[in-house]
Amino acid sequence: MTNKLNEQNWRPKTQMVRGGTQRSMFDETSEAIFMTSGFIYNRAEDAEAAFKNEVDRFIYSRYGNPTNEMFQDRLSLLEGAEACRATASGMAAVFASLACQVNAGDRVVGSRALFGSCQFILTEILPRFGVEVEIVDGASIDQWSKALSKPTKAVFFETPSNPGLEIIDIAAVCKIAHEAGALVIVDNVFATPVLQHPLKLGADIVVYSTTKHIDGQGRTMGGAILGSKEWINNVLSPFYRHTGPSMSPFNGWLLLKGLETLEMRVKTHCQNALDIAEFLVKHKTPTKVLYPGLNSHPQYDLATAQMSDFGTVVCIDLDGQKSNAFRFMNALQLIDISNNLGDSKSLTTHPATTTHQRISEDERSKLGITDGFVRLSIGLEDVEDLKEDIAQALEKV
Ligand SMILES: *Cc1c(COP(=O)(O)O)cnc(C)c1O
Repeated sequence: MTNKLNEQNWRPKTQMVRGGTQRSMFDETSEAIFMTSGFIYNRAEDAEAAFKNEVDRFIYSRYGNPTNEMFQDRLSLLEGAEACRATASGMAAVFASLACQVNAGDRVVGSRALFGSCQFILTEILPRFGVEVEIVDGASIDQWSKALSKPTKAVFFETPSNPGLEIIDIAAVCKIAHEAGALVIVDNVFATPVLQHPLKLGADIVVYSTTKHIDGQGRTMGGAILGSKEWINNVLSPFYRHTGPSMSPFNGWLLLKGLETLEMRVKTHCQNALDIAEFLVKHKTPTKVLYPGLNSHPQYDLATAQMSDFGTVVCIDLDGQKSNAFRFMNALQLIDISNNLGDSKSLTTHPATTTHQRISEDERSKLGITDGFVRLSIGLEDVEDLKEDIAQALEKV
């Protein structure tokens, strides 16, 4: 296997197409899929040396695999990270990033506005293992300061949040967290590696559900954890090797090819999303339109400072009424009802009854997820067709 050496100096678009490529003896154009669980050794001594970590080579695909390594290297270049590990799903990435480093008695501070399963890990699973978890309003620097006035092991948040599109000041929270001795983990799913670089703003670890925009075509589950070489090799790697959250090489290949078109896809998603958000603001029906790119968004200035564009998800509230939300969603003819997002196909979700139904009504109301709240993941279709579909469905509300 051979690769090139000056990848770090390439511009992002070149890194997306070529970064991490390693060619086999066959000199293939497109990266190969190494669908193999194991690797062979010429001599017993070579196996011994590999297990003693005396040589850097592939041992077993639970530890690492050539196709997945190409994906990990390409994503690391885009993120500006030293190292990456691919996981079977976004949730495997979130769980491993926390579980690899916390011990009973440690403290973790997280934001309230989280994807339902991330919230479950923080509030249900970690406390079972004796980890103290405190939840704060992510937009309140005061609450972060108070919660981080005690020594803390890790901080976890997502920005923009799913589905409330809350923006958290990454640089400000990192500064406070580091004073408390905490490593900061940012779930960057909604921003994608194209729009926001948490590591450059001071974060220590970035996690992705690659199921979303990185695949972007609804084909595969996947996740990724990025950070320093030191942390990935010494803290994450032992946990990752022995607990088995690793990615299938086939999925690694799909995601590697997904990265090649990521920037152009995300840019079009964002253009369509802004267009639709502005169209919805002018429409009489939604009682609220939420998009970080509208200057009516409570953290528009922070979003502008921290992100290069505003993301692919637009949310509306239809007067807090479930009947309105369901009537709207059922009337859509082009946009599909699905709990996924970041897909080339536009999708819509009713968080209160699906992704966030497990969360108490009280918590949901704190997050602004009313029964009339509808999430729209804006795809790559012609935006005029999307607007016509939304307009005819709003007529039915
Ligand atoms: C989807 C999602 C996850 C979980 O990812 P899976 O690939 O579905 O396991 C985590 N965080 C956020 C913000 C998400 O949107």
